[in-house]
Amino acid sequence: MENYLVSARKYRPDNFKSVVGQSALTTTLQNAIKNKQLAHAYLFCGPRGVGKTTCARIFAKSINCFHPNNQGEACNKCESCISFNEQRSYNIHELDAASNNSVDDIRSLTEQVRIPPQLGKYKVYIIDEVHMLSSSAFNAFLKTLEEPPAHAIFILATTEKHKIIPTILSRCQIYDFHRIGINDICAYLQYVADSEGIETEPEALNAIALKSDGGMRDALSIFDQVSSYGEGKITYQHVIDNLNILDYDYYFKLVEAFLNENTTESLLLFDQILNQGFDGLHFINGLASHFRDLMVSKDPRSISLLEQAESVRAKYKKQAEECSMSFLFKALKLSNECSLQYNQSKNKRLLVELCLIQLCLTGEAKKKQGELKTDKIAAAKVEKNPLPTSKTKTQANPSSPSTTANPKQATLTDSTPQPQPGNTVEGIKEAQTHQQAAVPEPAPQNQNPTTRATMERSLPGLTTSIRRRKIQADDTSGQEATTKEAVKTEEHFSEENLIEAWLRFAGTLKDDPYLSNSMQACKPRLLNKSDFEVVVFHPLTAQRLEAIRGDIESSLQRDLKNGKIHMLLRISEEDELKKPLSPQDQLDEMIKKNPNLQSLKQKLSLELQ
Ligand SMILES: [Zn+2]
Repeated sequence: MENYLVSARKYRPDNFKSVVGQSALTTTLQNAIKNKQLAHAYLFCGPRGVGKTTCARIFAKSINCFHPNNQGEACNKCESCISFNEQRSYNIHELDAASNNSVDDIRSLTEQVRIPPQLGKYKVYIIDEVHMLSSSAFNAFLKTLEEPPAHAIFILATTEKHKIIPTILSRCQIYDFHRIGINDICAYLQYVADSEGIETEPEALNAIALKSDGGMRDALSIFDQVSSYGEGKITYQHVIDNLNILDYDYYFKLVEAFLNENTTESLLLFDQILNQGFDGLHFINGLASHFRDLMVSKDPRSISLLEQAESVRAKYKKQAEECSMSFLFKALKLSNECSLQYNQSKNKRLLVELCLIQLCLTGEAKKKQGELKTDKIAAAKVEKNPLPTSKTKTQANPSSPSTTANPKQATLTDSTPQPQPGNTVEGIKEAQTHQQAAVPEPAPQNQNPTTRATMERSLPGLTTSIRRRKIQADDTSGQEATTKEAVKTEEHFSEENLIEAWLRFAGTLKDDPYLSNSMQACKPRLLNKSDFEVVVFHPLTAQRLEAIRGDIESSLQRDLKNGKIHMLLRISEEDELKKPLSPQDQLDEMIKKNPNLQSLKQKLSLELQ
């Protein structure tokens, strides 16, 4: 234990060949060394933990090596190499500009620069986080950069290239480091696990790679964290327990609920997710990514775009087969809209719940039943005309990491495992192309009329969905037959009677718990003999109540035997005064509901963002 080294240090690459996922870049550096075409200043840009400093160190060692091989790699045997490997070389200086960013720091550096190396040819100065230098420090440095001594080479590293002033940029050779691909990270983690004798599950490594967002250092430190938690075993469960990752099983269950039009199930699942301390935006973005993943899983040719372990792929493939392209497209669109509106929304939970309800009402369940009948005919058609879609789709995505075929391209491809709006927009674009391709100039008799109907229905959004639900209710319950008969009596009723009738109606909305709950929360107030007022706190609630006004009024009219009953809807003015809960308040609320959250928060030292 006394010699414990974190994996990120223990397995830090010590030659160009072992640098993971930056092969285009390391090849260029090696060529420069081979051809003795060295610049005086390099700028290494890119996200954290992708190998900038590591490459700078390897570069410094290689250019000082007495016997580099014909690949430009250091020999690791000569005196200079040994001093580098033992970290006692005087030819490498590292300055962290994040903490040493004053003019004085730069001056003491530039004074050193004048002294030539005692061993080897070059002195290499690595300035990390160079964008943190103060502007006067920048200017002081510029002089040295303009006329450096022959033996000095500067390697500036930054995560924020746009903060580097143009006068410096123009004096540097610029190298852009990219996020490392999921497969590259997984393979390297597997290598480390094998070397350390750690048992792993492929799903676990994949989840770590996704979480590390293309940074190897982060991936390795997560790896260390989970392996010490699991005492030498890394399972998927360990990873999601440790990392506040939402188990993808939730997404699979949710899609099942959507396909079965099971609003209750979807809302309950979301509640479970919130109770585990996950944030709504995180959830909805994850859901959008899940739809995107299902979409790419529909075609064997695009399944390589799925950044998941082999065993999980089968799961995606199976669920993808249950979803139509039109459903996935609609689902992506809805979840993406929800994500975009999230930060502006005053009632974020409601926004997500609405989105889930809409996802349940896309008409997929009905369609599935219809498809059962027409399945055989459709299958016959597909066989005659197999997969007209795939060509267009692969072309539509030039950044497709054809990982195995072209490793160089794969390393340069930005992998964006964290769900981001951009990610989903891309997915939508893809979906659009896909959809256009999927229905190429439809001969009218070929088009499934149900598909067309559901697509039209979904467009105007919520109110139409509700209307559809209403129609369904009318279809199914015989009780509703009396609805059409207008109530002619005008019996007197009290506010108490009214509230009772109101709650009875709310109780009938079993398939719509959200609306049912909202109705129970906002009780009606009698204004005169037949008019009553309902005050709601959220415009969306008003919108939803307005959509079923006819149902509400006729139900109350029948119940209270008064044909004049009329509802007035008003949005509370207090709403403008009421401040939305701050993230801290929301967290406190959640902790009140689930005290385990507090200890979880402390254990993982989570911070509100
Ligand atoms: Zn050497």
